[in-house]
Amino acid sequence: MILEVRPEKNKNIDWLAEQTKQLLSDQKKSWPLLNKNYENLSLVQTRTFEFDGFEVDVQFNPERIKSSNADVSKEAINGRQCFLCLQNLPDEQNGLATNNFLILCNPYPIFPEHFTIARRNHEPQSIENSFEELLDFSHELGKHYTLFYNGPRCGASAPDHLHFQAAAKNIMPLERQFDGIINKYSTAVFSNGNTEIHLIEDGLRSFISFESRNKRELLSTFFVFLNAMKKAFPLEDEPMMNITASFEHGIWRVFVFPRNVHRPKQFFSKEENQLLISPAAVDLCGLIITPRKEDFEKITRGDIIDIFKQITITKEHFEFLRKKLGEAFTF
Ligand SMILES: [Zn+2]
Repeated sequence: MILEVRPEKNKNIDWLAEQTKQLLSDQKKSWPLLNKNYENLSLVQTRTFEFDGFEVDVQFNPERIKSSNADVSKEAINGRQCFLCLQNLPDEQNGLATNNFLILCNPYPIFPEHFTIARRNHEPQSIENSFEELLDFSHELGKHYTLFYNGPRCGASAPDHLHFQAAAKNIMPLERQFDGIINKYSTAVFSNGNTEIHLIEDGLRSFISFESRNKRELLSTFFVFLNAMKKAFPLEDEPMMNITASFEHGIWRVFVFPRNVHRPKQFFSKEENQLLISPAAVDLCGLIITPRKEDFEKITRGDIIDIFKQITITKEHFEFLRKKLGEAFTF
């Protein structure tokens, strides 16, 4: 059953966050598969790897095999029923409907609270067409949740149907470690009192942080960045990137991870160095998901460094973005 919600009629900004929390609590009672998968989540094993000033967790989560192994080729997508379209949702699935989106519980969670927020219409994954809505949801759900977006060619398992995900706030290691990382590893490319943009290279990842108390400014600076990305990666589809967005104390915080490839060579290897890891926003935020026990047990710190080097953009591309952003913004 889909419940229509009109949060704009409610003065309390946290209203939708509370409704979303309630949805999960209700679904645990009404949907046995979902409830079982949440119970199993408390049993997942985690390994922690130390880096200079931060940590990366590896989670063994067998329920994620379908997602990690998803065939997202055009043929496969065209040949299947879209699992985010309303008419194809499981009978047990309930949801909250805003004007343009459905908030749905993810029945195969990685986090203690995990949602998919899908456009009501079937239309392709596109950050250009949805970045403002990503910011709006991160604001409205910000009391409890962090939003994330995976590009159509780097992690979205439904590249043909626009969607975000939401995770319990501060569950991804990078969210908790960011203050230390920004002090140690960042250079500012823009700062005007309302908005700050930093480029960060922490030895494992290169990414960009946007922090702003002004949505209009955040939108315009992001679109300057998106145009620089399109120049650096002139593709037919949008440049590959994973994004997270959160909101706290009146400030949006957006991390953008530009990508070089979708899956590392270890994913495709037929040899014993095979690792079935298909990184997306969550992995880049320091929570690597391994659906197979053997990968969870054998992965090393060196593998993590090697995989991140392959999937994130090169030094040259990062310097190109730095130059373009530097030209666009002056202090
Ligand atoms: Zn669809």
